[in-house]
Amino acid sequence: MSVAEKFRELYGYGPEGVWAAPGRVNLIGEYTDFNDGFVMPLALPHTAVAAVARRTDGVLRVHSADTGEGVVELAVDALEPRSGTGWAAYPAGVVWALRDAGHPVTGADLHLASTVPTGAGLSSSAALEVVTALAVSELYGLGLPPEALARLAQRAENAFVGVPCGIMDQMASAHCTEGHVLHLDTRDLGRRQVPFDLAAHGLRLLVVDTLVKHTLGEGAYAERRAGCEAGARALGVRTLRDVEYGQLDDALRTLADLPAGAGAGAGGSGPAAEQVVRYVRHVVTENHRVERTVALLDAADVRGTGPVLTEGHASLRDDLRVSCPELDLVVSAAHAAGALGARMTGGGFGGSAIVLVETADEDTVTKAVLDAFAVEGRTTPRVFPAAPSAGARRLR
Ligand code: ADP
Ligand code: MG
Repeated sequence: MSVAEKFRELYGYGPEGVWAAPGRVNLIGEYTDFNDGFVMPLALPHTAVAAVARRTDGVLRVHSADTGEGVVELAVDALEPRSGTGWAAYPAGVVWALRDAGHPVTGADLHLASTVPTGAGLSSSAALEVVTALAVSELYGLGLPPEALARLAQRAENAFVGVPCGIMDQMASAHCTEGHVLHLDTRDLGRRQVPFDLAAHGLRLLVVDTLVKHTLGEGAYAERRAGCEAGARALGVRTLRDVEYGQLDDALRTLADLPAGAGAGAGGSGPAAEQVVRYVRHVVTENHRVERTVALLDAADVRGTGPVLTEGHASLRDDLRVSCPELDLVVSAAHAAGALGARMTGGGFGGSAIVLVETADEDTVTKAVLDAFAVEGRTTPRVFPAAPSAGARRLR
C-alpha cells in the first residue's frame, strides 16, 4: 500500500501531497560539527516518505508505518519541549519549532514510512524531521529554503526531543544532491556540492551496518563535546575550528603543559588534560582530512581518498575513542581484502562503517567482512551500496 493510500485508510480522506527526505552517511568530518568544523555527507537512496495534509483546528495527528503504534494525536498549542511523546516528538518538535519561529501552523495529519534504518548512525531522525519540515513549509506556503528547514529541524531535535546534535544531519537531508557530497562549513553553513561520481571511476561506497549499539556510547557524545570545549577555552579560541592544522603541534604542547585541572570546566569536573589533548588532535586533524578529501575529489582522484578515510578511522579509534570492536573489525577485514579505505561513520559505539572499494572487488570485500563477523560469532552485518542521492523533495 502506498503512503497516500495508507493515509486515506487512517484518516478517511486523501493527503495534499507526498514528500521524501533521505538519510545520510558522512564521508569524512566526524565529531567536527559541534566545533564549527567541516563535514562531508552524502544522501542515501533510503528516505523517509510522508503523506501530509493541513488542518485548521489545532490538531496534529501522526502515524508511522514502522512502529506498530497507532495514530498519535496532539494539540499544537499544547506542545511542550521534552514532554516525551516517543517517536512522535520528532514531527511534533518540527511543528513546535515552526510555530515558535512565528509561522502560523494550525495543525496537520501525517503518515510516514521510512526505508532509513533507525539507530544505525544513518540519520533516520533527521530524515523524519526534514520531511516534516518541508511538507509543512510547502503546505502552509512558508517558502522556507533548505537551510532554514535544516535549522528548524535541528532546533526540534535539540530543544524539543532533547538530543544535542549538530547541524550536519539536517543539512545533509535537506541539501544533498545526487552524484555529489556536500562540503559544509558548519560555522556559517557555507557549502559546495562536490562531484562524487563513484560509478564513473569504477568505485563503490559500501555501508556496513553492524546492527549493534553499545550503551557505552550514551554519555560519550556529551563528554567529547565538553572536552572539545575545554580544549578551545584552554587555547583561547572560540572553537577548535580556529586551530589551524599548522598550529597543531604548538597547541598540543600548550595543552600538555597546562597544570592539572586547567582544562576542566568551571566545576573542576571536566575531562583530564590527557583526554583534551587527544580530542583536540582528532578535531584539528579531522578538519584537515576534510580539506584533503575535497582537494582530492576536485582533482578527480577519488581513489586517493581511501587512505584519508582509514586515517580518520584510526583517529576516531585511538584519539577520540568512540569506535568499538565491531567497527574496527569492519575496517580491518575490509582492508585485508583489498578495500581502498574504510572508517566508522556517525557517532560510533556501533552503528555503521563505510568502505570504499573497486567495483570489481565489491563481492570479495563484502564476503571478507561477513566472514570475519562469522568467525568471531558476531551478528551478521547488513551491507549495501551508498550511491550519492538526492536531498529532500516533493514526490507528488
Ligand atoms: P538515527 O538518526 O541515527 O537513525 P536516532 O536515535 O537519532 O538514530 O533516531 C532514531 C529515532 O528516530 C527512532 O528511535 C524513532 O524515535 C525516530 N524514527 C526514525 N525513523 C522513524 C520511523 N520510520 N518511524 C517512527 N520513528 C522513527
Ligand atoms: Mg539521529
